[in-house]
Amino acid sequence: MGTTHIIDGKQTAADFRKNLAEEIKRASLSPGLAVILVGDNPASLIYAKNKQKAAQEVGVMVEVHHLAALASERMIMDLIDELNKRPDIHGILLQLPVPMHLNPQNLIERIDPIKDVDGLHPVNVGKMTSGLPAMIPCTPLGCMYLIKQVVPSLVGKHAVVVGRSALVGRPLAHLLLQEDCTVTQAHSKTTHLADVCRQADILVAAAGVPHLIGADAVKKGAVVIDVGINRQENGKITGDVDFDAVQDIASFITPVPGGVGPMTIAMLLFNTLKAARNQMKTGLDMMLYKE
Ligand code: NAD
Repeated sequence: MGTTHIIDGKQTAADFRKNLAEEIKRASLSPGLAVILVGDNPASLIYAKNKQKAAQEVGVMVEVHHLAALASERMIMDLIDELNKRPDIHGILLQLPVPMHLNPQNLIERIDPIKDVDGLHPVNVGKMTSGLPAMIPCTPLGCMYLIKQVVPSLVGKHAVVVGRSALVGRPLAHLLLQEDCTVTQAHSKTTHLADVCRQADILVAAAGVPHLIGADAVKKGAVVIDVGINRQENGKITGDVDFDAVQDIASFITPVPGGVGPMTIAMLLFNTLKAARNQMKTGLDMMLYKE
C-alpha cells in the first residue's frame, strides 16, 4: 500500500450537488436545462440519462429532446432557436458527438452564448481565454475544483496537460494559467511525452489513450488527474493513467471511474444555475470560479 491519496470525485460531486440543491431551494429558483440528443449513440444515451437523474435531484428541470439520427441541421437549428427564446430554459446542451452528416460547430454557434452551459460557443471561448466572465466547459471546471481541494495555492506550480481538445485540454490549460501555474500543453505530436510529464507538479491526462501515463511519467509527489474514459474489451472503463503503476508515486490521484466523471455532471448543473442567475441578472451566491 503506497502513500498516494485517492481523490474521491463521487463523494466530492455528491457534496457539491447537495450545496447546489440548497442554493436552488433557498433562492426559490427553477433552473431549466434542455439536452439535445441526436441519434442513438449508446454512451450518449447513458450520459443524457445520468444528467437527467442528477439534475432532478438538485431541482434543475431537464428536458431531453431526442431526435432521430437522420435529423437535419435545419431541424436542429429550429429547435435551438425555439429553446433560445424560451424563458423557462436557461441552459442548452448539445450532446456530442453528433452523427457524421452534422457539423457540430454550426449547431454550437446557434446556441445563445448566455445559455451555452457547455462553454463551447466561440463567444464563451473568447471570453474565457481573455480572462473575462464566461461559461466555462464542465469537465475542466470539475478538474479545477478537484485540484483545488488538494492544492490550495496553484501559484508557480508546473502543470502539464496532456490533450488539447476544445472540450477539455485547451480550456483546462487556460484555467491553470489563470491560477498562475506554469503550463505545458502536451498532445499527440509531443515527443518524449514521459519526460515532459515528469516535470509536472500537477499532471492532467486527457488524451483518450488507455494507460498512456505510466510510472516513468510521474514525478514523486505529483497530483494526477485522470480525465480519460476508455472502454476496454471486457466492457470495463479505464483511464489514461496506469493507476496501479502510479499508485506509490503520486501524492493524490483521481480514480476512473469515480473521479472526474461525476464532477463533470455536477458542473453542468452549476453552469445551469449560473446561466439562470445571469438571465435573471442576480448574483450567484455559490461562487466557484473567480470572475
Ligand atoms: P479528443 O480525442 O478530442 O482529444 C484528445 C487529445 O489528446 C488530442 O488533443 C490529442 O492531441 C491528444 N492525444 C491523443 N493521443 C495522444 C498521445 N498518444 N499522446 C499525447 N497526446 C495525445 O478527446 P477529449 O474529448 O479531449 O477527451 C479525452 C478523454 O477524456 C477521452 O477519453 C474522453 O472520453 C474523456 N472525457 C472524459 C470526461 C469526463 O467527464 N471524465 C469528459 C470529456 C472527455
